[in-house]
Amino acid sequence: MSGVGKERRSVQVAIVGGGIVGTCVARELSRYKLDVLLIEAEPEVGWGTTKANSGIVHGGFHEEPGTLKAKFCLPGNQMFPKLCEELDVTFVQNGILLVARTEEEMEVVQRYYQRGKDRGVNLRLLSQEELFELEPNLNRSIVGAMYAPEGGSVMPFELAAALMENAIQNGAQLLVENPVINGWVDGDKKYLETPQYIIEADIVVNVAGLKADEIARLFGDAYFSILPRKGEEYLFDLSEKNVVTSTIFPVPSEISKGILVIPTAAGNLMMGPTSHNVPAKDDLATTYEGFRQIYEGAKSLVPNLQVRKVIAQFAGLRAASDRGDFIVEFSPRVRGLIHLAGIESPGLTAAPAIAAHVPEMLKDKGYVLEPKEDFNPRREPVIRFNELSHEERDELVRKDPSFGRIICRCETVTEGEIVDAIRRGARTLDGIKFRARGGAGRCQGGFCQPLVMEILARELNITLEKVTKRGPGSEMIMYHAKELLRDGVRQ
Ligand SMILES: Cc1cc2nc3c(=O)[nH]c(=O)nc-3n(C[C@H](O)[C@H](O)[C@H](O)COP(=O)(O)OP(=O)(O)OC[C@H]3O[C@@H](n4cnc5c(N)ncnc54)[C@H](O)[C@@H]3O)c2cc1C
Repeated sequence: MSGVGKERRSVQVAIVGGGIVGTCVARELSRYKLDVLLIEAEPEVGWGTTKANSGIVHGGFHEEPGTLKAKFCLPGNQMFPKLCEELDVTFVQNGILLVARTEEEMEVVQRYYQRGKDRGVNLRLLSQEELFELEPNLNRSIVGAMYAPEGGSVMPFELAAALMENAIQNGAQLLVENPVINGWVDGDKKYLETPQYIIEADIVVNVAGLKADEIARLFGDAYFSILPRKGEEYLFDLSEKNVVTSTIFPVPSEISKGILVIPTAAGNLMMGPTSHNVPAKDDLATTYEGFRQIYEGAKSLVPNLQVRKVIAQFAGLRAASDRGDFIVEFSPRVRGLIHLAGIESPGLTAAPAIAAHVPEMLKDKGYVLEPKEDFNPRREPVIRFNELSHEERDELVRKDPSFGRIICRCETVTEGEIVDAIRRGARTLDGIKFRARGGAGRCQGGFCQPLVMEILARELNITLEKVTKRGPGSEMIMYHAKELLRDGVRQ
């Protein structure tokens, strides 16, 4: 045991990791009379793999029967419409097409159709005629397809932030910028050490994504490993919005669902992801090879994609377990320690169902969970200026002139929306981009970044030098002119 001189906190449940799974668990447990604390290493929630994925709410037909992926994917899919409605999060049920480029691939499509049907997924096989009526820009050599109308698209970081906001409304607590660096057990209590705190908990839920194996090892559970698997994604300008409306899947390979064309919930089209095992858990580089593979794959589905319309690229790391499946279980050694690990794709889709399973796991082990009578599933609605009518905008600006000042021109984001995002927990430029879309458009912040920095500094009552892109170490202003001269940095 270490941590002498650190502040001590005691809670009933400590959740380690604020990704989509951790924030879903926090909200789920905030339904009960429990003292819940979510501990996150980053300055805001949703910044791990949750911020770097395809955002697809999968249909529930891909997963191998008998796996935990299959057990949680379809129920997760079914929970999305209500969840997103309650939390006022953008969810587009745009449907999924699994397409066949050859007759052999059509046989595979038919197998997935049967698999999906067997588990009750709403699916339809489409003729070529029906397919091209639905998606006229698809490659005309595609021979047929399966349609899953209940597949959809969501903005995962928006959802994670909304889940946490609602959990906090219902009494949960959030601790950011506090990576868990040590852990131990004393009797029935578990202890977690962060740079600032020693946290005592009865129950620990390990949802640390790529680091879940490292958190497990702190408690002596060395029986699984997390192997990062990279996926690169390329995002198109909003001008490409209507090229396709459904999410287009090829038939999957052994290790991935293939290269897709994805209409995101934000309206941008996206292509990706690749799927390559990488040694490092922080390798988020995009590569020329990755781009080529994606572009070729995506063009085989939608030939008229234009590379010059790509405005942004990123990579995410799937936290694949060495079991090849999700790990959703109690520690075999430590009472009250739950591992939700190896939550690779379709983890975003499955997250609400995995989280809903956690109270059941606890009850099965004899923990008494008393529901709160006053649990409020609804988050305060968000104002999205660009979705309002002219009359609504007029009225809003009259009430609050900050909604009359456009900060991000590409996405039409107002000062009022940025201030609201800060009030709800945004602390950084990336936080504003993820929550309010300021800086997410074609110019990627080229125009609005200095304005957003000023608003962040003003609202957080910090100096401009303290404004960061994504937390300490990413300060935007590194030098003043006189420091440049002092340090001899000249053009
Ligand atoms: C390229 C790609 C595309 C994908 N597409 C889809 C898709 O379309 N649909 C779908 O359903 N799934 C998809 N997935 C999978 C999905 O993104 C993940 O399953 C999901 O985001 C996992 O969430 P998580 O909460 O488990 O992990 P994370 O989001 O990684 O959260 C873990 C959190 O733990 C924190 N943490 C780590 N260590 C510590 C520590 N020591 N102390 C405190 N906090 C810590 C991290 O900072 C992080 O915030 C995709 C994944 C990738 C990579």
